[in-house]
Amino acid sequence: MRKHLTKLLAFCLVLAMALPLAACGKKDTPNPNPAPTNSPTVDQPSDTPDPTAEPSQEPVPTADPEDAVRSYWSEDQLTQAWGPGQVVEHLFFHPVIAYPEFAFSSAVPQDRQEGLDDWMVTVDEFNKILQSVYEKGYILVNMCDVWSEYTNENGEQRMQRNTLMLPEGKKPLIMSFDDVNYYDYMLSEGFMSKLIVGEDGDIWAYGVDPFTGEEVVTQDLDATTILDKFVREHPDFSLNGAKGCFSLTGYQGILGYRTQNDIDIAADSPERPAFDAKRQAEIDAVKPVIARLKETGWTFGSHTWGHIRLAAEGEKADARLKRDTLRWQEEVGSLVGPTNILFYPHGGRPDGDHDQGETYGPQFVWLQEQGFRIFASVGISSYSQIKTTISAVICDRLHPDGTTLRSGKAREHYLQFYDPKDIIDLDVRPDLGVTW
Ligand SMILES: [Zn+2]
Repeated sequence: MRKHLTKLLAFCLVLAMALPLAACGKKDTPNPNPAPTNSPTVDQPSDTPDPTAEPSQEPVPTADPEDAVRSYWSEDQLTQAWGPGQVVEHLFFHPVIAYPEFAFSSAVPQDRQEGLDDWMVTVDEFNKILQSVYEKGYILVNMCDVWSEYTNENGEQRMQRNTLMLPEGKKPLIMSFDDVNYYDYMLSEGFMSKLIVGEDGDIWAYGVDPFTGEEVVTQDLDATTILDKFVREHPDFSLNGAKGCFSLTGYQGILGYRTQNDIDIAADSPERPAFDAKRQAEIDAVKPVIARLKETGWTFGSHTWGHIRLAAEGEKADARLKRDTLRWQEEVGSLVGPTNILFYPHGGRPDGDHDQGETYGPQFVWLQEQGFRIFASVGISSYSQIKTTISAVICDRLHPDGTTLRSGKAREHYLQFYDPKDIIDLDVRPDLGVTW
């Protein structure tokens, strides 16, 4: 068993949550929501590379650099069996602070700075963490490959931990990224604003330099693009092209696009047509981003639509959860596709927690009935427990951020990944001390 830091769980940025079904969507290679530009062209000119055609003798002029990542390890190199009894480590991050000199300046209120200090890492810290976990032999795996559902001898659906086949000497690592929504508050606190598809077909981050006011398109200031780039430069860091799993809310849209509905605007309101048109433009704009992220090893889970606390009890809370879940499905699941992963906001877990065996409440059962199978919280180890009386697995993730980088007590749990002393940027962070 394990202890967990309840206080740490009280976190996750702002508010809410929800969700869909089916597996992690790894079979959906064809984009379920193709953007117009991705639509197959009929009667292609003969000089246009056709991805479905037989290999041609001529080199394709713009080979996808991600191909080298996906195919880096060949099957005969995957000789190390990582069995169900072996831990698959799991680290999670929030969006990284692109401009820490701005975020930790008087331009941002003190209490906000402390919030950012608690729950975020800076770009430089994130770079150092990636380098360290890579050097320590970790390899990114797809969270959707770690557990799967099967039918037991009684005909019941249950979850099981899969055996992963890895290269010799490597240790599996899941990375997840919470609240990759680019909330309004982040846009004024030194973060990037959205993910976009660049002219080269890759994912880039768009933002505004808070010091100069100039628009910035970069791959060096955002966790997603930094990880993409790191894996392109170190393809042995990824198993079959795996990257991370996004944990998305919906109340301010997703990935920097304001795709959310405003249910306060009535269907017959004069404001409706303009709102709908604007929203549709955001939806159209985010679709190619989602498609490219999926193509390049990223997966999606729910963080609830409204970042809601799930441990609350009572009919009111149950009703709220149902509304929230459906809204996530309508507004986020409809764009990113089905998922069976739920990342608890605020760490509030209605699943009976670790020490209560098979005890769990009606909210957990309802979420499971909606298709969720993997329920992720936050803790001091990559704990996981497969439920025996319902098809579900609960798991914890470690959280590199200011709270753990500063803590001597937490340090021992993170040394297998990195030494916080080598990572934390005390020159730029507020003067809040360390206990190591
Ligand atoms: Zn959160």
